[in-house]
Amino acid sequence: MGNRNHVFDALVLRRWSIGEAHRGVGFLTKERGPLSAIAHGAAKSTGRLKLLTTPVRRVVLKAYHDPVADSWKVVDLEPLELYGGLAEDLDRSATASVWSEVLGKTQVPGQECEVYDLFAEGLGLLEGLAAADVARLNVQVLWRALELSGLAPDFSACAECGRSLAGQPVVLLPPEGEPVCLTCARGRGVALSSRAVDTLLSTAVLGLEEGLHAPVDPLDLASLSVEALAAWERIIGGPLKSALVFQGVVH
Ligand SMILES: [Zn+2]
Repeated sequence: MGNRNHVFDALVLRRWSIGEAHRGVGFLTKERGPLSAIAHGAAKSTGRLKLLTTPVRRVVLKAYHDPVADSWKVVDLEPLELYGGLAEDLDRSATASVWSEVLGKTQVPGQECEVYDLFAEGLGLLEGLAAADVARLNVQVLWRALELSGLAPDFSACAECGRSLAGQPVVLLPPEGEPVCLTCARGRGVALSSRAVDTLLSTAVLGLEEGLHAPVDPLDLASLSVEALAAWERIIGGPLKSALVFQGVVH
């Protein structure tokens, strides 16, 4: 018989009520992706259990797995990061909501989460950022997550004619998002400037916080943001609900 008690590094992404006293909690664990567990008494708790089952937190999750029902129970939670600054600002909380939705809809149960460290670090930076830097961080995190997941477009050559895209504007052609040159795009889609692509590629090798300080043209930032969200929506196969709010906020 396997061990029924497990310890995870986890982000608290969602919660819901179960009866009057309990809460269901949607965790994203680093070790095995999304995991839903019941936190007994969490709704009536006024202390740590309530605090640590409120999104978004990073916790050490001790959980018990019932092999018969294949269900999980929260045994204990310890705080790693409370990310308290996220709730202090609308841009921050909206961005955190987009990330949570992306994570909640793309990570596979039972599989190690390859983008876990990126988002955990991103949330830590996000909670202290000025409004002007939130959009930069969002672009950095969403594009890096595409790259880590093996889902980033290949900006080296046009997917249709094969010509080099170096120094050229690139169109991520709907609906598949294939990177093509302006000639092949024939007016379809919206072009990312060559400068925008350069910014993306040159900051990708930097640490996340360092990448945040690289200069970005505001127009490039806007188009990189739109295209990153579009790329994730293609992967999810539908609109990001929280991104609708987000786009209304950041202008
Ligand atoms: Zn082409």
